[in-house]
Amino acid sequence: MRLSKAFLPTLKETPADAQIASHRLMLRAGMVRQTSAGIYAWLPLGWRVLQRVEQIVREEQDAAGAQEILMPTIQTADLWRQSGRYDAYGPEMLRLRDRHDREMLYGPTNEEMVTEIFRGYARSYRDLPRNLYHIQWKFRDEVRPRFGVMRGREFLMKDAYSFDLDYAGAQASYRRMFVAYLRTFARMGLKAIPMRAATGPIGGNLSHEFVVLAETGESQVFLHRDLLDFDVLRAAPDYEGDLSSVVDFWTGRYAATDEEHDEAAWGAIPEGRRVSARGIEVGHIFYFGTKYSAAMDLKVPGPDGALVEPEMGSYGIGVSRLVGALIEANHDEAGIKWPDAVAPFAAAVLNLKQGDAACDALCERLHAALAPACLYDDRAERAGVKFADADLMGHPWQAIVGPRGAAAGKVELKRRATGERQEVSFEDAVARVR
Ligand code: ATP
Ligand code: MG
Ligand code: MG
Ligand code: MG
Repeated sequence: MRLSKAFLPTLKETPADAQIASHRLMLRAGMVRQTSAGIYAWLPLGWRVLQRVEQIVREEQDAAGAQEILMPTIQTADLWRQSGRYDAYGPEMLRLRDRHDREMLYGPTNEEMVTEIFRGYARSYRDLPRNLYHIQWKFRDEVRPRFGVMRGREFLMKDAYSFDLDYAGAQASYRRMFVAYLRTFARMGLKAIPMRAATGPIGGNLSHEFVVLAETGESQVFLHRDLLDFDVLRAAPDYEGDLSSVVDFWTGRYAATDEEHDEAAWGAIPEGRRVSARGIEVGHIFYFGTKYSAAMDLKVPGPDGALVEPEMGSYGIGVSRLVGALIEANHDEAGIKWPDAVAPFAAAVLNLKQGDAACDALCERLHAALAPACLYDDRAERAGVKFADADLMGHPWQAIVGPRGAAAGKVELKRRATGERQEVSFEDAVARVR
């Protein structure tokens, strides 16, 4: 993509009302535009990142055996009356009426709807276990939408729902999601720690929040340092097998949000291994047994012919919140430092002398070789402006081409994360970036 023709509107000024780095940088880098309180339009740079985050989430859900569907954003109140949550959910639910005066709502979550869908087809225990997920916009009328996409009112969530024949099956489903979550966040270069959590309005009795440590996080968390040192991606999980040992490693070491914090257990950890920090909730998984199947009359004949209510769990990831969390974890004074796995462009080609025949030719070759993951800064701007915008937008690599280098066929390759620079040939530049 050529920057001269792109819709990538960067801002020089720091937006006054943005309190945290990720919010400021998303506005300055032209990733999103607020259209009303807590509601954002995603511009090309932001949309690319959001789609890459979504794709990693999707791949790990699929690998763990979940199947993607797409449920609507608008739901009927009737569905929520069946579970008893219509009145219980409170003012976070955006309630609507259609032209026939029927009560509708913009979904804040989908337990009821997925239970209704599954109920329509499940005929026997042979239809279990199943795990269905979608990646869909949600609406919650937050009291204080803030920090940009971190706490929006409309936000993108991945939510999965498992159905099992019995308790043991439901625990196995829970463990598969637990492990898939560890991998999802690790692939983005994030350390997200599962922490025992309260179940809140979803109900149920087993729940973990996945929390990324960051100074600007909204919750106070306490954990054992071993959990930060563990390399999640070292071994591929066997989703057909028993994942207990992986889950036991994580649940066997202390990690809790302030709501669930236990001073005595915390005190038992050697002082040097205690970490107390702020955190961002990026995912949350729940086991809630038959809460929805019982309330909504979902039953199937078991192997012995007797009717059973499937055991369920639900599993959420804040896909749009992750974009903010990723920036909180990867930025400096100058801008964003995208991890390779989610970067909107792998590289920016910076032409320091637009119009110079050698510079233009070398930049065109780089742009062609690295497309479509390459942004070519072909604007008639000063070098300083190009450096500043590339640092702000955070491309993992900058391929910098000036007249002296171009004459010798050389590119200066800068790694945004470390600031390291190296003069390399065209071929080496292409090989490194790819
Ligand atoms: P929070 O404690 O931040 O309000 P929650 O516990 O209400 O979140 P869940 O119901 O567990 O949220 O939803 C699953 C995930 O959706 C959360 O872990 C979070 O990553 C994301 N999420 C929830 N609310 C928002 C929001 N207002 N904006 C962006 N993402 C959100
Ligand atoms: Mg909430
Ligand atoms: Mg929460
Ligand atoms: Mg939660």
